[in-house]
Amino acid sequence: MISIVGLGPGALSMQTPQATEALAAATDLVGYATYLDRVPPRPGQVRHASDNRVELDRARHALGLAVEGRRVAVVSSGDAGVFAMASAVFEAVEAGPAEWRALDIEVVPGISAVFAAAARLGAPLGHDFCVLSLSDNLKPWPLVLHRLVAAASAGFVLALYNAASHARPWQLGAAFDALRPVLASTIPVAFATAISRPDEAIEVTTLAAADAARADMRTLVLIGSAATRTIERPGARPYLYAPRRA
Ligand code: SAH
Repeated sequence: MISIVGLGPGALSMQTPQATEALAAATDLVGYATYLDRVPPRPGQVRHASDNRVELDRARHALGLAVEGRRVAVVSSGDAGVFAMASAVFEAVEAGPAEWRALDIEVVPGISAVFAAAARLGAPLGHDFCVLSLSDNLKPWPLVLHRLVAAASAGFVLALYNAASHARPWQLGAAFDALRPVLASTIPVAFATAISRPDEAIEVTTLAAADAARADMRTLVLIGSAATRTIERPGARPYLYAPRRA
């Protein structure tokens, strides 16, 4: 049995009770060390922490343990199905031995970064929106730009995961450059970093003023559409919301 568990964006209060139950029931936890550190230790439970960025290897390891009869929880941040481990597990199953297909695989949903960030900002996802990963590790950069510009041109609010990292320092700036001819310079842009964690930081600006250097690997970047409304407030961050009609 394998559970693929989304831990939510950071705070324990944003982890679902179903996720907590699946973690408690597991004999073995598999995941990136940073995420495993968020799970309180339990006596007798074995942790297979990795700093390995190869998700497919981690998935195969978890499937191997499950075939031996272990009850395995594979952990991801946010929702496990959004740019995370659930796809890696199913990729491994599709290409793997027949015995892996016989396993029960449970996907436990979590609060994805986009929902945690949107809730802090107001209601920017109240109408049509599009979620994209800016990472060009597993897809070519021209395809990233093509999808970005197509979605912006179609009037979607954009939520960008994997907007920046040490290994990918220029992509977000290039993405803003590609969007500036398509979107009005006044369209709101929000940088939502480490939401629900102790170092949470949020900045709301405009596409004209957006500085890509503001984002790191813990940042969700939200780009409004022509319909996005900004409610200015004295001495406080503005609220962003999407009107229900567009
Ligand atoms: N499965 C995760 C996403 C993994 S991809 C989910 O559903 O949230 C990793 C990206 O998620 C990061 O680069 C960042 O863009 C975003 N992210 C994850 N946690 C975040 C948080 N607490 N605050 C803001 N963005 C976050």
